[in-house]
Amino acid sequence: SEFVKVEFSKGALRTKTVEDILTPLKDCFMLPSTAVLDFSTMSEIMQSGYTRVPVYEEERSNIVEILYVKDLALVDPEDRTPMTTITKFYNHPLHFVFNDTKLDAMLEEFKKGKLELLTKPFKFWNSHLAIVQKVNNEGEGDPFYEVLGLVTLEDVIEEIIKSE
Ligand code: ATP
Ligand code: ATP
Repeated sequence: SEFVKVEFSKGALRTKTVEDILTPLKDCFMLPSTAVLDFSTMSEIMQSGYTRVPVYEEERSNIVEILYVKDLALVDPEDRTPMTTITKFYNHPLHFVFNDTKLDAMLEEFKKGKLELLTKPFKFWNSHLAIVQKVNNEGEGDPFYEVLGLVTLEDVIEEIIKSE
């Protein structure tokens, strides 16, 4: 059965890290916090096909908020609402994980809303996106957190299915 397959593929979950499976920052669909939710921006979001859009300040590596497509339900493009008006209103939490987090630990992290998984399976599936960062201590200066990309539950599930 499907359950047996998942059991058998735990090897990859123990050895692989989120860094192995993440969507690199350069490939992430994101918007600047200075964006205005006009017709063109809202179309761009819809056409991206993604449910969650990280919002950055100044540089793409500086993710400060996250926009859910469903937050746009009551937004009228004619109003040209500033992005931050919406992100500050919904204020969805950002989740950060380190690059060396093993997939089994990541899965546990995602499963923390376990009760939610039982009672609200769709909510569970939807709300799981983590920003992957590493401590960069190459170079002369002080170590700093470097954002590498993002990982979602779907990426972990894909790894489970791939490796069975
Ligand atoms: P949903 O399936 O709930 O519609 P989604 O398609 O936006 O959500 P996921 O299904 O969680 O996202 O992930 C599918 C793939 O897209 C994963 O590889 C994930 O890393 C990637 N992904 C998710 N959001 C973004 C984004 N904003 N930009 C680029 N890649 C993303
Ligand atoms: P999301 O969590 O993605 O915002 P949602 O809030 O619409 O989605 P869920 O979180 O999956 O829905 O479910 C919350 C509760 O609302 C559940 O008890 C679910 O059965 C109920 N529910 C969801 N959609 C409807 C609907 N159209 N009519 C009545 N009850 C609904």
